[in-house]
Amino acid sequence: MLNNCQTRSPTRIRSASGSESAAWLDALPSSNALSFSPAEFRIAALLRLGAEIPFLRDIDHCDCGATIDNEGYHSLTCARGSGAVRRHNAIQHTWLNLLHSVNYVCDLEREHQFDDDNKRPDIGVFNFKDGRKLLLDVSVIHPQSGSVLARGARSDGAAAAKRDEDKLAKYLDDATRLGYLFEPLVFEVFGRWSPIAKRLFSQFSLRPSLDFLDDKNAFMDFWRKCLSVSLQRENSRIILRKVKSVLPSISVSPVPSSAGAPVRCFSWE
Ligand SMILES: [Zn+2]
Repeated sequence: MLNNCQTRSPTRIRSASGSESAAWLDALPSSNALSFSPAEFRIAALLRLGAEIPFLRDIDHCDCGATIDNEGYHSLTCARGSGAVRRHNAIQHTWLNLLHSVNYVCDLEREHQFDDDNKRPDIGVFNFKDGRKLLLDVSVIHPQSGSVLARGARSDGAAAAKRDEDKLAKYLDDATRLGYLFEPLVFEVFGRWSPIAKRLFSQFSLRPSLDFLDDKNAFMDFWRKCLSVSLQRENSRIILRKVKSVLPSISVSPVPSSAGAPVRCFSWE
């Protein structure tokens, strides 16, 4: 039987080799939505490669008390801090912008959608199909997490597919009872999309698009890159924030501060 160290690498490779996973590497920084800072880009590249992240070498323990690893696994799964929520919100807004661009009428995290207010899907699309409202829930899963690690080493997209199942189990019955449609939009941390997210993305691309003169391929290329950049940039920011929270004196800027007390500055050498 493979141990965790042996299964983490194949799981990462499967997740990072999805057709959507590398879209951020081809994105030209023509707008904020498609841009990284140098530090964000480098961390995203190191995560993809499974390499050590130099920032993290200076940290033994996380602010939650756990031992921290140099490959970013703990930083990306730690429950302390707001990084995962920020990442979720960034991806949610990218999907929302995509939907608005093809004239869907949407609301966001509507309260009291269901009797149980802990169940609050992220996006509602009013004019989806035959006058029925489509509810969407955005989610990111780390494929190296214990509950999905072994499956992820054996098959592509196993973690995302498992999260699809979990989300459907949580929302579908309630949505159906009220006459709504429900679909999850799941990404794995290394970039692979769930089968449902891919199907819906393709479906959205069939809508008339003024921005791309109804060129479906151009629409898909642009939004695939936006979603990919959004995910990978936020992964990097989670790690940068974690480092900053444990070592407040560290500078994440590639340019050392010239004023006041010397600051520790990250070096890529
Ligand atoms: Zn932690």
